[in-house]
Amino acid sequence: MERLQKVLAEAGIASRRKSEELITSGRVQVNDQVVTTLGVKVDPAADVIKVDGKPISGQSKVYLLLHKPKGVITSASDPGGRKVVTDFLHGVKERVFPVGRLDYDTEGLLLLTNDGELANMLTHPKYHVPRTYHATVEGVPHGSVLDKLRSGIKLEDGMTAPAEVEYLDVDTEKKQSVLSITIHEGRNRQVRRMLEAVHFPIIRLKRVKYGPIELSGLARGKFRHLKSDEVAMLR
Ligand code: URA
Repeated sequence: MERLQKVLAEAGIASRRKSEELITSGRVQVNDQVVTTLGVKVDPAADVIKVDGKPISGQSKVYLLLHKPKGVITSASDPGGRKVVTDFLHGVKERVFPVGRLDYDTEGLLLLTNDGELANMLTHPKYHVPRTYHATVEGVPHGSVLDKLRSGIKLEDGMTAPAEVEYLDVDTEKKQSVLSITIHEGRNRQVRRMLEAVHFPIIRLKRVKYGPIELSGLARGKFRHLKSDEVAMLR
């Protein structure tokens, strides 16, 4: 017997936390009875578990890579009707959810899947999955600023872990630079806060790599299925 929220997450319905929300909001049924309390144990092989009336078994796993445009919310739905990342997934029938999140104003690589177990692993702080960003900033930060970003910046939620930081482009006419920054943690607005802390606010932020997966070649607003070797590399 296993906890219902664990079974939902492992079936790729949603993350563990979102699965708990599905239960408490009355959307989950076990053997045609609505279950709203957490901690209920089920037998995934014998019990008929439904979410929104649909049985959870037999869902195939999908792994998608979206080039998120800026001005889009990283969520599967928005009560205010604003554009969300799943609006871009034309033809995808499975219910997928984002792996971590990108800010409204951040563009670039976003993974979406219905594989709750893999999503939990990728976003768990203990695995230190590297994420690479291209950050356009005002001005030209000195090498010593890059060193500070590399070694760790004090933010209100603590020091940042060591990061890899390089110049990608310096435009002295426009007085802008592009930095490549790879971080190994995923705190809220982390790259923006790191650059603000050294007084080089971000003008544009784009994620280009997540673990071994690269964005290159995918147009803005488009998505593709990960290849099986890419999925294997994520595990
Ligand atoms: N860091 C940020 O500041 N924003 C993102 O969207 C991702 C990482």
